[in-house]
Amino acid sequence: MDCIFCGIAQGSVPAALAYEGERVLAFSDLNPQAPTHLLIIPRKHYASIQDVPAEEIGIVGEIVTVAQDLARERGIWPGGYRLVVNAGQEGGQTVGHLHVHLLAGRQMHWPPG
Ligand code: AMP
Ligand code: ZN
Repeated sequence: MDCIFCGIAQGSVPAALAYEGERVLAFSDLNPQAPTHLLIIPRKHYASIQDVPAEEIGIVGEIVTVAQDLARERGIWPGGYRLVVNAGQEGGQTVGHLHVHLLAGRQMHWPPG
């Protein structure tokens, strides 16, 4: 399978890593949309959040825990941050490996585009 984020998880594609765990990885987005823009991914390939089976949904909680830890460690909290999961074509997903965006360091606006 030709997946860029699997490549990052396996170390064959370079990335600026922010967190490396047994099941979860975080790294800087190549095209940042905020002063802090990290992507948090499961090492295991899921094409989107819609493709995580119910019995494996705990991985999403692990990703959120990593987001909380990064927000704490980097002084992002209590200022605030935004977690974004784009899913599928109309959801704006462009990379077909589940990822959660962690955006921070500027005022966020609503609604998103
Ligand atoms: P999405 O539109 O939610 O699928 O987001 C995909 C994100 O991955 C975009 O913000 C891209 O800038 C980012 N991206 C694509 N390739 C890489 C890469 N090799 N390293 C880091 N970020 C990437
Ligand atoms: Zn993948």
